[in-house]
Amino acid sequence: MAKNILDRLNEGEVIIGDGGYTHELEQRGYVTSGLYTPEVVVEHPSAVKELHKEFALSGADVLQAFVFYGNDDKLNNGRNESNLLNGEEINNAGCQLVSKVAKDHGCFVALPLVTTEAYSQKKGKELVQKEFLSQINIFKNYEVDLLISEFMSSVEEAEWAIEVMKTLNKPIASTLCIDQQGDQNGISLQECALRLAKAGADIIGVNCRYEPSVAVESIRIMKEACEKESLNVHYMTQPCGYRTADAPTLGMTNVPEAPLAMESRQISRWEAQKFAREAYEAGVRYIGGCCGFKAYHIRAMAEELSDITKKLPQNSRSKNAESLKHHRLTEFQKRANKDYWYNLAPKDGRKAAA
Ligand SMILES: [Zn+2]
Repeated sequence: MAKNILDRLNEGEVIIGDGGYTHELEQRGYVTSGLYTPEVVVEHPSAVKELHKEFALSGADVLQAFVFYGNDDKLNNGRNESNLLNGEEINNAGCQLVSKVAKDHGCFVALPLVTTEAYSQKKGKELVQKEFLSQINIFKNYEVDLLISEFMSSVEEAEWAIEVMKTLNKPIASTLCIDQQGDQNGISLQECALRLAKAGADIIGVNCRYEPSVAVESIRIMKEACEKESLNVHYMTQPCGYRTADAPTLGMTNVPEAPLAMESRQISRWEAQKFAREAYEAGVRYIGGCCGFKAYHIRAMAEELSDITKKLPQNSRSKNAESLKHHRLTEFQKRANKDYWYNLAPKDGRKAAA
C-alpha cells in the first residue's frame, strides 16, 4: 500500500504543499475579492482545475480543494438572495475537481475547514460545529488524505474544528493565522501549539496573513513549546506570499494595499526559495504557501529542497540559476549563480522620494 502523508512525515520526508487559490483566482478574474467566492468551482470549473494542475506540475505533493469560505454561513454572507448557490453543490464540485487532478498527478487530496461567521458572532460551540459539519458531511464521501483547519485566529475555534474532523478518522492538520502575539483571545502562541497538539492534530502550524519569516519564527516557538512537553507532532506552514514586516498587527490584513494593490509586496521566487530552506531547517516538514504564493513560487521551493526530496517538479525549467549562463546577454550570464539571487534585495522600481 502506498505511504500516506503521516507515514511520509514520520519517516522524515518533506511534503510540499500548494499555493494560494483565493488571490490567484481573484487576480485571474474568477472570484470576488473579500468573499473569495468558492462558487467558482461550479461557475468556472476549468479555471480551478487548471490552477490545481499548475501547482501539481510545480512540485506540490498535496492539492487542496478550493472550498474556502464554503461553510453555510460564509456562503450566505454578502450574497443577494438571487445568486445564492447550494453549499452542497459547491463543496461536491470542489471535492470532485481536486480529486480528479490529484489522481492524474499522483498528489494527495486535502480538504479544508476555515473560520466561521458563527464563531465571530459568538454563537457558541454547537452552532460553530454545525457549520463545520455542513462540509464534513460532504467530505466523508471522498477519498481524502488530509483534513486541514486553517485561517482561524482563535485556538478555541480550531479545537472545535479538530473535534469534528476526528470523526472522519483521517490525518488532521491544524493551522492558525496568528503570529508571536498569540491568538485573538490573548492565548499565547506556545499555549495555542500545546492545545492544538493535545486536541489531536497530527500536524500543527500557521497559515496566511504573515510573511514567511514571521511564520518560520512562529513555528520555532510552537515546536519548542511542544518539545518541552514531549508532544510528538509534525509542523506545517503556509504563509502569505507578501512582505508584511511593516504591518502594526494582523500582517497582510492590515497593510494599506490590502487586498487590491498587493503586487508591490509580492515576494520573489527567490524569497520563496529561501523560505523553503529556512522552514526546513526550523523543522517544518509540510511546506506550502497561502495568499500570494503562485505556482512558480511552489516550483522554486520544490527545486530548492530537491536535495532532500531527490526529485524535481515536472515543469522545472530553471532548475537553478545556472541556466542563465546560456543567455545571450553577458549581464545575465554574470547572474548565473544562486548567490546573486540569494543576496538580491528586490526594489520596486519607483523613483525614490526627494
Ligand atoms: Zn491566505
